[in-house]
Amino acid sequence: MSEVKPVIGLEVHCQLTNLKTKLFCSCPADYRGKPPNTNICPVCIGEPGSLPVLNREALISALKVAIALRADISRFIYFSRKNYFYPDLPKNFQISQYDGAGGIPIARDGSLDIGDRVVRIRRIQLEEDPGRIVYEGTITSSTGLLIDYNRSGIALVEIVTEPDIGSPREARIFLERLRSLLEYIGVFDGGLEGAMRCDANISILGGGRVEVKNISSFHDVEKALSFELARQKQRMLRGLGVIRETRHWDSRRRITVSLRVKEEEQDYRYFPEPDLPPIIVTDALIEEARGAMPMLPYEKIDIYVSKYGLSRGLAELLVSSKALSELYDKIVECYGKPDRVASWVIGELLPLLDKLGVKIQDSKAKPEDIAYLLRCMDEGIVDKSVVQPILRSMVLEGSRPSVEAGYRLESRMEEVDVDRIIEEVVEMEKEAFHDAIRNPKALNYLVGLVVRRSGGRADPREVYKILSKKVKEYRRGGV
Ligand SMILES: [Zn+2]
Repeated sequence: MSEVKPVIGLEVHCQLTNLKTKLFCSCPADYRGKPPNTNICPVCIGEPGSLPVLNREALISALKVAIALRADISRFIYFSRKNYFYPDLPKNFQISQYDGAGGIPIARDGSLDIGDRVVRIRRIQLEEDPGRIVYEGTITSSTGLLIDYNRSGIALVEIVTEPDIGSPREARIFLERLRSLLEYIGVFDGGLEGAMRCDANISILGGGRVEVKNISSFHDVEKALSFELARQKQRMLRGLGVIRETRHWDSRRRITVSLRVKEEEQDYRYFPEPDLPPIIVTDALIEEARGAMPMLPYEKIDIYVSKYGLSRGLAELLVSSKALSELYDKIVECYGKPDRVASWVIGELLPLLDKLGVKIQDSKAKPEDIAYLLRCMDEGIVDKSVVQPILRSMVLEGSRPSVEAGYRLESRMEEVDVDRIIEEVVEMEKEAFHDAIRNPKALNYLVGLVVRRSGGRADPREVYKILSKKVKEYRRGGV
């Protein structure tokens, strides 16, 4: 039975970690690390008489998610109450959205590519996070539990897929792609503990659909589903069948355990939330969300392939994280040769970062310094054998390509007429130059232009000195 193909669908909950406040009240969204039950107010713990007010930024962020997932945005939406009794939810209902019983989620019918497969997104909805339950021991053996409502009311987007996922590995890839996409659009930071959680439905050979809850990482989704797949196969082999139920992923013991027979949707008694007015999603609102979005990974892949001539595989690797593709773009801007930069970043830089245990976003190597190092290599100034140690100190300490490697190039730098380039840039960017007179921070923009125009050869610090001197002179009345 090893060839049995499971049918897998995911329900992913992602906190909108870019927000300053919770979904329906003004409590700070940054709840982590605070003493239990100190980040709360009457609204988010559901005291009688308190009234929720929708956080507009949360709506915009959810619209961005819908656009990024190519979903159809509903033009008229409202919130529903999902009723259930559970300690993490003191008001006994969760303000959510629903696509049955006349409910309308924020968007429907989206999609996300995972390599050569497309996973359809059934719905995207906005809802509040419940509080956090801390069991003493494990969920099955615990005799008591503690509840912290600091998380209660945090804005979540729920993303529900169609059962298009064909293996535990694909489920992991889906989550990785989704995380990367949400990080691109700036609504989500996957590095925060518990920011992305997922429930998975899995069934085989027409057996009962089992929901696995409490999966909190990419690695766990693959492990939990692999365990569940093996368990269901075993039961089928022994002729026992698989019953429809909810199981809990115990990440410590690496097994799923039965929790309860699955609630049916009618058990939740969904009905429209009477305390929140319906929302008309106007063109202007959608444009506001779209206008604030950067280029998306799949748009970037197309550019890397069609304009830079990279292979699709290489392009996909480069956009797999936002920090990586931003670094790549900046190096290309300083140095050119997108194909050389791509293979160098993937073949040399990433393995080194891996070895050092440094994340791309934590690397101190500046793109213009990397461009400089590449140029040193091109011109035969740096021997291959010393590239690694130089790069190492760039990554760890932010040092410029070191003296022993660079000094010969420094002498060539004289060939670059920095003063002339600065004159040209000031001439072209008069407005920015005048800005810099009032606001010294605006100088950085000009420095960047000069460095780029010099092909990465000009030393940014040197350029900064010259430019700020110029600004001072101008302020005194002479240029
Ligand atoms: Zn609150």
